[in-house]
Amino acid sequence: MKSQASTDLFANDSQLVKVLLPLPLAGPYDYRVPPGMDVWPGRFVRVPFGPRRLVGVVWGEGGDSGLEASRIKDLDSVLPLPDLPQANRDLVDWISAYCLAPQGAVLRMAMSVPAVFEPVKPITLYEPMEELPDIRLTAARKRVLTVAADGPARPASDLARDAGVSTGVVTGLADAGALKRISVAPGGYWPQPDPDLPGPGLSELQSKAALEMAEHVKARDFSVTLLDGVTGSGKTEVYFEAVAESLRQGRQVVVLLPEIALSTQWLSRFERRFGVAPAVWHSDLTQSKRRDSWKAVAEGKIQVLVGARSALHLPFPDLGLIVIDEEHDQSFKQEEGVIYNARDMGIVRGRLAQCPVILASATPSLETVVNVREGRFHKLELPERHGVAELPTIELVDILKNSLGRQRWISPPLETALKETLARGEQALLFLNRRGYAPLTLCDGCGHRLECPNCSAWLVEHRFSKRLECHHCGYATRKPDDCPECGAHDSFRACGPGVERLAEEVELILPEARAELVTSDNIYGPAAASAFVDRVTSGETNLIIGTQIVAKGYHFPKLTLVGVVDADLGLAGGDLRAAERTYQLLHQVAGRAGREGHKGRVLIQSANVDSPVMEALAKGDRDGFLEAESNMRELSRMPPFGRLAALIISGMDEVAVDRFCGELARKAPRMDGVLVLGPAPAPMALLRGRHRRRFLIKADKRISLQKLIPQWLNQVKEPSSVRTQIDIDPVSF
Ligand code: ADP
Ligand code: ZN
Repeated sequence: MKSQASTDLFANDSQLVKVLLPLPLAGPYDYRVPPGMDVWPGRFVRVPFGPRRLVGVVWGEGGDSGLEASRIKDLDSVLPLPDLPQANRDLVDWISAYCLAPQGAVLRMAMSVPAVFEPVKPITLYEPMEELPDIRLTAARKRVLTVAADGPARPASDLARDAGVSTGVVTGLADAGALKRISVAPGGYWPQPDPDLPGPGLSELQSKAALEMAEHVKARDFSVTLLDGVTGSGKTEVYFEAVAESLRQGRQVVVLLPEIALSTQWLSRFERRFGVAPAVWHSDLTQSKRRDSWKAVAEGKIQVLVGARSALHLPFPDLGLIVIDEEHDQSFKQEEGVIYNARDMGIVRGRLAQCPVILASATPSLETVVNVREGRFHKLELPERHGVAELPTIELVDILKNSLGRQRWISPPLETALKETLARGEQALLFLNRRGYAPLTLCDGCGHRLECPNCSAWLVEHRFSKRLECHHCGYATRKPDDCPECGAHDSFRACGPGVERLAEEVELILPEARAELVTSDNIYGPAAASAFVDRVTSGETNLIIGTQIVAKGYHFPKLTLVGVVDADLGLAGGDLRAAERTYQLLHQVAGRAGREGHKGRVLIQSANVDSPVMEALAKGDRDGFLEAESNMRELSRMPPFGRLAALIISGMDEVAVDRFCGELARKAPRMDGVLVLGPAPAPMALLRGRHRRRFLIKADKRISLQKLIPQWLNQVKEPSSVRTQIDIDPVSF
């Protein structure tokens, strides 16, 4: 470590350093380096902070804080941790400056592991002895030895699993002297993916794309490439070749996926291609697993890591490739705390690490499409599905003309298609992006609606859990027997469908179907997700009724029919991006149909069959749709043709919120090229008990919102009961 930097970086008399603490405060603080202590930027240190001791990161040279020398405290100690690399520190600074979030808040998000390592118990790995002693070899023992001979030292449980025996056979072989025991620290065992295992034979177009991406990896330079391939074209297999190239170069890879906990099919495909599972990173990992992974990334022991957006902040010392799969996906936007878009910050990360970035999607975002058009990003296309599979046919069902009948949501054409599909022994997916039984419950007597006490939202009935839930704050309550408004008994009526109600209808019209409900209420982790995949693959389930969690990524060979129950759900409200998002979601869900051998069919039920988005879906005219969207945004100077930010002002005290908004409005910037809209009630005007107002700031490209917004906010003092959140590049507006 010493070679990289040393105390002489700070070899001035004062020996002051700046330390950034993971607190939602402004910036780093000065501390004095006690004699004999060795620090440099990136070191993790413990420091006194008020009555507490906190862990922070040395950010640079101190001394310009203007504090009296006597008030500056000494560093406490240096932690025995790898440094936070320069690129990670730069990313913290970049996000802080761009998103107008305090550096400490960004660091807190980026550290995400307790920087203190407890003493650790070693684990035992097994590998074959060079010479086999003369022992009795049962079939089970032979299998273990064969498995052990092929690959690195592994824990007994891994060997036993691969050989299909109990762990006792493995430990027995070690006791008999046929296997060697090796002790390593936990987290010290990271099997290495092998880039040179044979992958699937790629088609000509796939190979061409793969080769070009591998060239970018070899160039060891920053570039962004959009892998634009229709659903089922093999994008994953193709970017795996870029991953393989980075591995051959001995450089690390990070892959961002939108729903990592549910991506079991992706993980097994990786394992098939590279021989071992990749390291994963998401919020459900235990603290100790996070700590081990963090350290292994820093030490270069993890070669490929697949994770959620926070994986960008891991301390990769030698990043060779960043892949952002489903780059258009909204879940890359973090909406709480530090508001940032991991797709965009992934690109910044690539520039800081000087490595290529691959964005993959069948429905790229308008931002990305414009970046390609203007020559900032490369583009590679996969216009056909892999093998003999063809794209599905998409038909619109006008639900205004197909009267559905009371309490019915499956139209006659969709019902017929479902029956035919299941009768052929194939599978179907019914898509409705609404959890629960019914989105609205009202009293038949007086019309009273059951609403969340903390949010401007209706309570959603969940029949299986027998509760009413708020989907915004998690508030849950039992359904009351009597109407709280008029006192009528047993008068509540469910209005509209959720997936649970749809399941009831399915039971009625398709009693033979082996239907399964798939929502975040019943599939919430890797184990549940892979059990679901198994049930569909084995045919135990032949009809999936699901929300958006089944829309992406899944590959089910026998699934040939997709029915979209209410395509208009996302179009309500005034959101300018509603059409783009609806297109992306419905195109993705349609893409689940007919991915192998059998031709797929998609029926989309809509009351807006003439809208541009539905027409484009039916015609398969994605590019025409994007072109029209792009023209509209350009005319209104909306992103990506202009700049946009949202200010959300919130507080429990509505009067204080409105007063503060009034003062902000009076000081709002008035200049050429800037338009401030608001204050207006924010979408979700009441959320978790906080009243919310919103300003939208629209500006020409030449104007820096990062300068303008702080100048504006600094003119008005924020009362302590009010909070201001800044959302640069909001995804919904
Ligand atoms: P996409 O991500 O573009 O929707 P996938 O990468 O999921 O497509 O590929 C769709 C299916 O086709 C997967 O089961 C994948 O393993 C398979 N596949 C793609 N390319 C090949 C290939 N060259 N050889 C064999 N199977 C392939
Ligand atoms: Zn609520």
